[in-house]
Amino acid sequence: MRVLLSFAFLIAGLLVPCPAGFSVLGVGPAEAEAQETFIDMKGTHFIVRYTLPDEKAMAVQLLNKAEEAYERISRDIGFTRYVDFWTWDKRVKIILFPDQISYTRFTGQELWSRGYAARDSKLFRDRVVVTYDGQAETFTSILPHEIAHLILWDLLADTQSKTPVWLEEGVAQLEEADQRQMVKEAMRPVIAAGQHIPFNVFKDLQPSELKSEVQVTLFYAQSLSIVVFLIEKYGQSAFYRLFKELRDGRSFEAALARAYNGIINSMADLESRWIADASSF
Ligand SMILES: [Zn+2]
Repeated sequence: MRVLLSFAFLIAGLLVPCPAGFSVLGVGPAEAEAQETFIDMKGTHFIVRYTLPDEKAMAVQLLNKAEEAYERISRDIGFTRYVDFWTWDKRVKIILFPDQISYTRFTGQELWSRGYAARDSKLFRDRVVVTYDGQAETFTSILPHEIAHLILWDLLADTQSKTPVWLEEGVAQLEEADQRQMVKEAMRPVIAAGQHIPFNVFKDLQPSELKSEVQVTLFYAQSLSIVVFLIEKYGQSAFYRLFKELRDGRSFEAALARAYNGIINSMADLESRWIADASSF
């Protein structure tokens, strides 16, 4: 019962299945940008594109919050040398549709989708964050989450290694407001009851393979919980090292063993230390 309650808590307040990274295919032949008349507002690293003149204040806020999120996320994953990369013609577009109906119609996203990021999709040829106006969680969740995905994709784009989906989703959620403490409290009873997703399954899992909403929710919560554990237990510099090793083309387990040398040598080590940590409170 405790476990079910904590899942209910997770579903209610914490996590939304994230369509980021899915390419947008199967939409009509014309590009969305050609069908809407957008007004551009340009910043250092972003261009906000919106459709209604009275959304100008929202666009200004989006631009400011996006720049803040960009600086913070680059710092959090140790990618500060990257800060001049998204400038001029490399600026990321934030496409703001006026409402959910036009967003869904033009992008072909699922009805539950509130925003997504893409690089070079058929619909939008550049790096984009696409969302719609009127959502309370735009600045606290959608924008930082999707910008984190774009930064991670760029950071790891040229490497041979495949970044586990859970690591990417864990970092993206880390950038959302107020998630750290919530996920710790939510995951503790799940781990105590032995109901987390076993790491030998979890390590290559795609949330789209999961059948139920509870399982998807657990996947996201577990992803964030492990990232929070790594950063809080072993520090930011080891976490930077993990991404440096991944960028150098190592497999995830090899990168993990080098970043957490002598402490965590495998996913099995990570699992047992993560469980022990959750049980120690
Ligand atoms: Zn995501």
